[in-house]
Amino acid sequence: MTAPVYQKITAPATGTRVALGSNGKWNIPDDPVVVLIKGDGIGADVNGVPGITTAAVKVLDAAVQKAYKGKRKLVWFEAHAGDEARKRYNPAITDDQLKALDENGQRQVYLPDDTLAAFDYYKVGLKGPLTTPIGGGFRSINVFLRFKFDLYSCVRPVRYYRGVDAPNRNANKVDMCIFRENTEDVYCGIEFKSGSDKAKKVVAFLREMGYGPDVLLDSAGIGVKPISPERSKRLIRMAIQYALDKKLPSVTLCHKGNIMKFTEGAFKDWGYELAKAEFRDKVVTEDEVYKDHGGKAPAGKVIIKDRIADSMFQQIQLRPDEYSVIATPNLNGDYLSDAVAALTGGIGLAAGANIGDGAAMFEATHGTAPKYTGQNRANPGAVLLSGALLLEFLQWFEAAELVNKGVEATFAEADATAKAGPGGKLHVTYDIARQFPGYGEQAGASSTAFADRIIEHINKM
Ligand code: NAP
Repeated sequence: MTAPVYQKITAPATGTRVALGSNGKWNIPDDPVVVLIKGDGIGADVNGVPGITTAAVKVLDAAVQKAYKGKRKLVWFEAHAGDEARKRYNPAITDDQLKALDENGQRQVYLPDDTLAAFDYYKVGLKGPLTTPIGGGFRSINVFLRFKFDLYSCVRPVRYYRGVDAPNRNANKVDMCIFRENTEDVYCGIEFKSGSDKAKKVVAFLREMGYGPDVLLDSAGIGVKPISPERSKRLIRMAIQYALDKKLPSVTLCHKGNIMKFTEGAFKDWGYELAKAEFRDKVVTEDEVYKDHGGKAPAGKVIIKDRIADSMFQQIQLRPDEYSVIATPNLNGDYLSDAVAALTGGIGLAAGANIGDGAAMFEATHGTAPKYTGQNRANPGAVLLSGALLLEFLQWFEAAELVNKGVEATFAEADATAKAGPGGKLHVTYDIARQFPGYGEQAGASSTAFADRIIEHINKM
């Protein structure tokens, strides 16, 4: 693939492209180029005031430096999307002109060809939050990227950090990573409006198939839920590989297969099938644990288990420590990832990634929190922890661990300070500071001070 020619951005002079080898595995250089989209609102640097993405990048660079002493380095290539892209590429366009553009025209305003070409070439990116484009044909930058690059797995690590005010007393036992299928299920967009010609045709077809008005009214809107073995298996494969890479104890297939047998139930069956076919010597099923191993998993093996979605929602609250990696179809995953994140508190900490076999984009799950734009106040934690996930993707586990430990140490220190009584100096941002009794938002540190404190902890490790 030849390097693209860009209109308004310049590729870094150093750095190497992360590339897929002929064996389908990533070749990770010591100086990978990572496309950086800082984002809008709190993601953006405004008049020299750094946003959360800049703060997060500083910590990531420090962790890599500490872990590899200059032998490895992330090479950032800044590209643009969202409002920032509109400002740079089409500064004069009005909202009315924008609405008159077709879907691709609108896409080019919010996600310029430069950015697409850079991501297509370099394959790996870190992205801050983006303003959702104003109403029109092009609805979401994230969805566009997901489909264009077949980023089929939405990955959401969630864990508890001491000091964060969590609503559940079992929150300190939460350390999970959810792999949510991104391309199938009811979210894939096959829907027919109630009363439309297409809906009528589908209803007529279903009548031919034997479904009467007892289950399906003529007036029903229809949504289709495709779930295939290929797309289920590639997601579950990624989840199992993640558990193996990180030496995690289990992968749980979360499904609603008791009711939807040929979609959700099949997802579960394909999961076990894949685990046995491709990872036989590395995994053990929960049934085998009880039948063949007296209830105790053999050392070093990942347990493959499954849970029905409704029970899973109970389990994450009552016994979160029994769950580690979760693989699930789209809709379950949507609810589950937010529910698990809520258990641990702190939207400013919800990290994520959309990963495919040919590209990966790492991103915070929160939005642009526009009221805090340019104030150096928001929590860079979610972008930073998404960056830690990027480091894990690069197999730079030592650096990822430093980031996680640095965040942990900074929260733990704030917790200890707050417990010692009011008036202490906190090094966490406002959203965490306000959770401590006797402290308020004003006691919070700036985004950059928080990042700097994490770096201090990293450098002491
Ligand atoms: P939001 O930006 O997530 O903000 C909602 C509230 O969450 C904030 O007011 C703030 O709460 C808290 N928050 C979010 N991020 C935080 C951080 N880093 N540090 C501290 N607190 C944080 O949700 P929204 O206001 O609904 O959406 C704003 C824009 O973002 C919209 O255009 C939306 O479409 C877009 N969006 C983008 C993405 C994405 O790019 N991935 C995702 C979601 C939304 P307090 O005010 O209580 O402090």
